[in-house]
Amino acid sequence: MSNGTQSEDWAPSSWQQRRALQQPHYEDAAELAQATAQLAQLPPLVTSWEVLALKQALAEAQEGKRFLLQGGDCAESFADCSSPIISNRLKVLLQMSLVLVHGLKQPVLRVGRFAGQYAKPRSADTETRDGVALPSFRGDVVNGPEFTPAARRADPQRLIRAHAHSALTMNFVRALIDGGFADLHHPEYWDLAWVEHSPLAAEYRRMVAGIGDSLRFMETLAGPIAGFTKVDFFTSHEALLLHYEQAVTRQVPRHRGWFNLSTHFPWIGMRTAALDGAHVEYFRGIRNPIAVKVGPSVTPDQLLPLIDALNPQNEAGRLTLIHRMGNAKIAEALPPLLQAVMRDGRRVLWVADPMHGNTESTSNGYKTRRFDNIRGELDQAFDIHAAAGTRLGGVHLELTGEDVTECTGGARGLSEADLQRAYKSMVDPRLNYEQSLELAMLIVRKSVG
Ligand code: PEP
Ligand code: MN
Repeated sequence: MSNGTQSEDWAPSSWQQRRALQQPHYEDAAELAQATAQLAQLPPLVTSWEVLALKQALAEAQEGKRFLLQGGDCAESFADCSSPIISNRLKVLLQMSLVLVHGLKQPVLRVGRFAGQYAKPRSADTETRDGVALPSFRGDVVNGPEFTPAARRADPQRLIRAHAHSALTMNFVRALIDGGFADLHHPEYWDLAWVEHSPLAAEYRRMVAGIGDSLRFMETLAGPIAGFTKVDFFTSHEALLLHYEQAVTRQVPRHRGWFNLSTHFPWIGMRTAALDGAHVEYFRGIRNPIAVKVGPSVTPDQLLPLIDALNPQNEAGRLTLIHRMGNAKIAEALPPLLQAVMRDGRRVLWVADPMHGNTESTSNGYKTRRFDNIRGELDQAFDIHAAAGTRLGGVHLELTGEDVTECTGGARGLSEADLQRAYKSMVDPRLNYEQSLELAMLIVRKSVG
């Protein structure tokens, strides 16, 4: 048995025997079956070769040879599947990775939270407004955000539309990268129009100039260096809606196993990571590298069996643990987990998500995060790992290339009053361009001292 993939007691549908949290209620089983059958016929969005290449790169990150940058929207939407939104998000991630490569002197593994990030866990099944209760919005793959019975109905046709929008996004990202958009010789391609006025612009431009000088110097000696004209970009999403994930799970005979071929790197959200739940059952049987979000209430006694269920062979690169504790809780919650995992010799990649434990509501009704709390959690994460003798090998962020005002603080000191200016997120508040770049600079300062 390897990863449970050869296991006779697993099938892409075996999760259906377990308790599946956070799933919508589909009214018409025949309509759902018709849509998933159609989805199962569509070509995959990624290949098993790419998936295994990412697993190898994640194994290298575990060994301290790479740093993972994973980021994108909390939730993608069909309406935002457009050229500027996709390319601006790519620009921010490329700029951040440039800062990280330059500062860490290490290859950066780039993984987008995109091309499939359409399903959201919710705290309640229904939402009530003015005495009217309707099903909660669960992401564009399930239903629509408008507060009407028609929009909130779980519509199986959205499974097909989500796959199509993922493919459109993926196709554009691949075309941009193949066309030279990520060429290190031309970082000016990644400038966002409003960046010129950023307080961080000067520091960023100094780094770009430094990299340009080094590149020209090396190429004078050695000729053009192919690796600098292209970068790899992988995709990830929370594999929450199991009917969707089952339909995009395919057997790959050459690699003797089942792969989720809708994304390179699916993850299990904090709310659906129960050992005996449907999500863990689904994930144990696929051969992709996978991640699990770990919140502050998880104990070592819960975490170790989960690791064993998901990575029974202790395979390198297979399992990433993304801790999301909150600035106030990380100092207490993280060390026992690091100790237990290290003591038992479990191979994992540790990644910090400093966003999801720091969400709060303002007095004027916005869901926000304070930049100081995000920075504080990340800062502590580096120190706690250093003290434990483990390595923080990456970050997981919610960000956008748009000039939004969703998180307070940062270089421009956004206040609660600023939130109403450009709050666009349908779900969680994202870092804007400047706040993202500032965080990348912080990571460099923490890592190199
Ligand atoms: C998310 O990543 O958007 C999310 C819901 O995270 P978590 O599962 O950590 O709460
Ligand atoms: Mn989120």
